Amino acid sequence: MEDRIRYPEIDEYLRQVIKREDGFLKELEEYARLNYVPIVTPESAALLKVLVTMHRPSRILEAGTAIGYSSIIMANAYKKSVIDTIEIDENMAQMARKNIAVLGLKERIRVLTGDALEIMKCLITPYDMIFLDAAKGQYIEYFEEAFRLLKPGGLLVSDNVLYKGLVAMKDPVPHKHRTITVKLREYLSTICHDPRLETSIIPIGDGMAVSVKKGEFNE
Ligand code: SAH
Ligand code: MG
Repeated sequence: MEDRIRYPEIDEYLRQVIKREDGFLKELEEYARLNYVPIVTPESAALLKVLVTMHRPSRILEAGTAIGYSSIIMANAYKKSVIDTIEIDENMAQMARKNIAVLGLKERIRVLTGDALEIMKCLITPYDMIFLDAAKGQYIEYFEEAFRLLKPGGLLVSDNVLYKGLVAMKDPVPHKHRTITVKLREYLSTICHDPRLETSIIPIGDGMAVSVKKGEFNE
């Protein structure tokens, strides 16, 4: 499907000007490309690195591990962080654990296998940053748990919120993408209008929303 967010010329330029991964992370990018694993784009990875470097989150929660790429990106951006990451697909989770082990990050990244919503419901200890990158149709349901689990001042980052640009499309959205599009619109409206958050939606990669949970000082 045509991507309605990005401009090929700008993409090409950004990808050659930003600092790109090398070594094992580059191999993971290549693996993802060849096997259609939807890892974050290089520009989105760069934004994640900036956010993690700025915010210095001790505890990060991620929904949607895939092969562990974005977890590793975040772990590398702040060496004192620990990450819990949730993946529903057993094979993916195994591959992520293997990749995490190769980089010696086993002590800092814990891969939890299961449905993100179900697992989030069982978590209690709060996080400094939460990255939502699992089932797009369930972001609204994740939000309730994510908000509960986020410390005041904590960051909520949501990936794929523009869904190839379809979320902003005025014409009728093709039938097979309609449900997800409607749900993502509801999600964006929720996080943009919730008075307990400040939210910015950035048309980078597949669309990333960055929200911050207001602290007591803002109430
Ligand atoms: N964050 C990764 C990419 C994740 S792709 C990166 O950027 O490197 C989305 C992943 O979410 C897929 O691996 C998929 O199996 C997983 N997923 C889909 N539905 C899920 C659910 N309900 N709970 C947990 N994981 C889910
Ligand atoms: Mg994503």
